[in-house]
Amino acid sequence: METDEEFKLAAKRLKAEGQRALTKEERARRRRALDGLDVPNFDAFVVDRGASALVRKPTTILQVNIGLYCNQACSHCHVESSPLRREEVMSEAVAARLVELIDASKKKSAIKTLDVTGGAPELMAQFRPLVLAARQRGLDVIDRCNLTVLYEPGQEDLPEFLAENGVKVVASLPCYSEANTDAQRGVGVFERSIAALKRLNEVGYGIEGTDLELDLMYNPGGAFLPPSQETLDVAYRSELGDAYGVKFSKLFTLTNMPIKRFADYLHREGKTEAYMKLLVDNFNPAAAEGVMCRDLVSVSWDGRLFDCDFNQQLDMPMKGGNGGDGGLSVFDVASLDELVGRKLAVDNHCFGCTAGAGSSCSGSTA
Ligand code: SF4
Ligand code: SF4
Repeated sequence: METDEEFKLAAKRLKAEGQRALTKEERARRRRALDGLDVPNFDAFVVDRGASALVRKPTTILQVNIGLYCNQACSHCHVESSPLRREEVMSEAVAARLVELIDASKKKSAIKTLDVTGGAPELMAQFRPLVLAARQRGLDVIDRCNLTVLYEPGQEDLPEFLAENGVKVVASLPCYSEANTDAQRGVGVFERSIAALKRLNEVGYGIEGTDLELDLMYNPGGAFLPPSQETLDVAYRSELGDAYGVKFSKLFTLTNMPIKRFADYLHREGKTEAYMKLLVDNFNPAAAEGVMCRDLVSVSWDGRLFDCDFNQQLDMPMKGGNGGDGGLSVFDVASLDELVGRKLAVDNHCFGCTAGAGSSCSGSTA
């Protein structure tokens, strides 16, 4: 980034004008900006194309990004997780407040699912307490698992913990080819992912006759839309089954969102404008009707409230509360029922959720 001529020039110009130079963060923000690309207004576009207005409904899914620390540092990661992000981890106080809000949100909302993501969520101190609290309350729990976490120190009993508590595992495996997966997620990741899938199969995950769901997530390795879910499901099932004896429940495809590391990639390749056009041209009203932000609340590791995990990573919190510019937090609301009817915070990146099959089956993968 330091060698990026565009931002060097911008910084020079500001200095010449007697203003301060751009901070590293501001330069990143500019590089990632999707403004000025002739992208239509998302709000109006959705309604024009026959989907309902983007307004919050009663909450059914509480998605919690429990911390940004991860044992991997994948090239497409929209949360920019890595082993360096040790500080951004959910506290006991925020986790306890979440449980209070689940209990308090009964009038309009009926929270059915706790969806835990990260980073590598299993490595956070609050992961197991939150899972147990949610299961005691009868909620379904989703763990967005990067698979290799099973081989981190202290995680030897993770498959048994997840199985005993009936946690649904949603795992990222960007391709059934070793070369493609390692290119996106790091050398050796494919081999360890396959070993982890087999370990999950051993305790019953993905096996017919058990209730233990093991879903896989595919996302494209470049600036193109994913192929059809059905076609890819068949290919994954035969490739992973024949070569490795791995079983899974369902395969989901996700569109890459034009934010964070993927936005950097688009910028580097000079593909931002073409990718945004691809997303707009492939707008699907059914996907717009089903965008997860309509009935999901996303909570960051520090307790702030967002319409989705993507907005969380773009620092677009729900407005209001006592946090000033920081937006609304779990400590500002008595229950999630208060959020019903609020206008959703949408912008150009949202076209990633409505292109083709969309990117919104409860959002991100870990
Ligand atoms: S990016 Fe978030 S706010 Fe935008 S449409 Fe998708 S889920 Fe909704
Ligand atoms: S994509 Fe998932 S596994 Fe990869 S760095 Fe991000 S959070 Fe970690």
